[in-house]
Amino acid sequence: MLTCRDVSLSYGGRTVVENVSFSVERGDYFCVVGENGSGKTTLMKGILGLLPLSGGRIEFQGVKRTEIGYLPQQTVVQRDFPASVREVVLSGRLNRCGLLPFYTRRDRACANDNLERLGISSEAGKSYRDLSGGQQQRVLLARALCAADKLLMLDEPVAGLDPVMASELYALLEKLNRDGMTLVVISHDLKSAVSYGKKILHMRRGALFCGSTDDYAKTDLYRFMSGMGGDGA
Ligand code: ADP
Repeated sequence: MLTCRDVSLSYGGRTVVENVSFSVERGDYFCVVGENGSGKTTLMKGILGLLPLSGGRIEFQGVKRTEIGYLPQQTVVQRDFPASVREVVLSGRLNRCGLLPFYTRRDRACANDNLERLGISSEAGKSYRDLSGGQQQRVLLARALCAADKLLMLDEPVAGLDPVMASELYALLEKLNRDGMTLVVISHDLKSAVSYGKKILHMRRGALFCGSTDDYAKTDLYRFMSGMGGDGA
């Protein structure tokens, strides 16, 4: 669905992603791992077109850039966002509204379908900021699914969740993937990435490893980094 060829990205002349090449195929559960500051989020923003590339190119097959659903890392301010759950999920359709931000019947049906799919229909009328962290992530996932139904990119989706909520979210992601959704998931938790992902890209500015999860689990890199507590930090 997408191929990065020698992609580089920089901030004010400082290169933070250098010559990274990989492909994501339809149906993949593709994990991007690496220590904090290794360039994972920057790479994702480059793929989404939120940052210009300083080198290389990205090709899309069967999906347009605007058809990628994105779940960014949540900020403290977003956790306190004063809107209803339904409004947050519906806002995933804004990129389809054209010049006038009016929701159609189809937009509302899509929001309802995704609320149902993620088991949060009963929360639709509640205020987003009153939900638990795990439920908020479900709402944001439903929002991303309203924006796109082929490829989802998630940046540290379990950050800040307790272990039970985190494993529920992982189970949900696995189900979405089984149902055909292609996932690209940033995580600094190597062990979870290895148990859930099908492919791994391990970054440290460049790509230290890119390939199947099974092959990655046999590398000294994985053994060393996971022995250091997951992110090697
Ligand atoms: P990761 O997602 O792996 O934690 P990031 O992509 O967020 O890493 O950051 C990679 C590097 O780029 C870090 O050194 C970070 O400080 C730097 N960086 C991130 N965002 C910006 C920005 N907006 N301006 C300047 N430098 C940035």
